[in-house]
Order: sequence, then C-alpha cells, then structure tokens
Amino acid sequence: MLVAQLESQKPGYFANIKHIIVEPGQPSHFGKVESDKPDTIFLSLDKIKGIMGANKDPESMKLAIIETLAHEMGHLNSKFEGGESPADSEAHRIMEIFNAKR
Ligand SMILES: [Zn+2]
Repeated sequence: MLVAQLESQKPGYFANIKHIIVEPGQPSHFGKVESDKPDTIFLSLDKIKGIMGANKDPESMKLAIIETLAHEMGHLNSKFEGGESPADSEAHRIMEIFNAKR
C-alpha cells in the first residue's frame, strides 16, 4: 500500500492521520484537508486518474497519489498557514525522495 511505502521512507509520516477518504467523482481538487478534521486526508482518485491521460500506468498513478498526499500533509504540517507554498514544497520534497529511487 502507498501509505506503507511513504511510511517506510519517512517513518511516522502519517502518525497524526486516522483516515484517508477516497472521494468519488470529479471535484475541483486532487486532495483536500480541512482544519476542523486535521486527522483526515480526502483523496480524489478519479480526478487524479483524469489528469494522467495516457500515462495511466501504475507507477505514474502511484507517484501522483503520493504527491497529492504529501501536498495535503504540507497543509496540515503548516497548520494551513502560508497557503499553497508549504504544501507545494512538501510535495516537492517527498517527490525528490521517490524520484531518486526510480
Ligand atoms: Zn493545496
């Protein structure tokens, strides 16, 4: 499972997360977190699949999901301060680890 892979790279990464909820349909976001539910990450798998286009191979999907989870963790870790910047830099940081392993 992806969460286990991220955990093995970064032990305790999801220590404060209790739920990862897959949202159906095509919302405007790939993932979402809410300040009143800091233990939950919402993941829009259909939306992520939708932007993958022809690159829908399992490895690309996996990386896109990991990037989304890391982005949302960036919002949680920054306590929703600083807008997209801390989320994007967290996603970037985590993707560097995974891309280095390819
Ligand atoms: Zn964001």
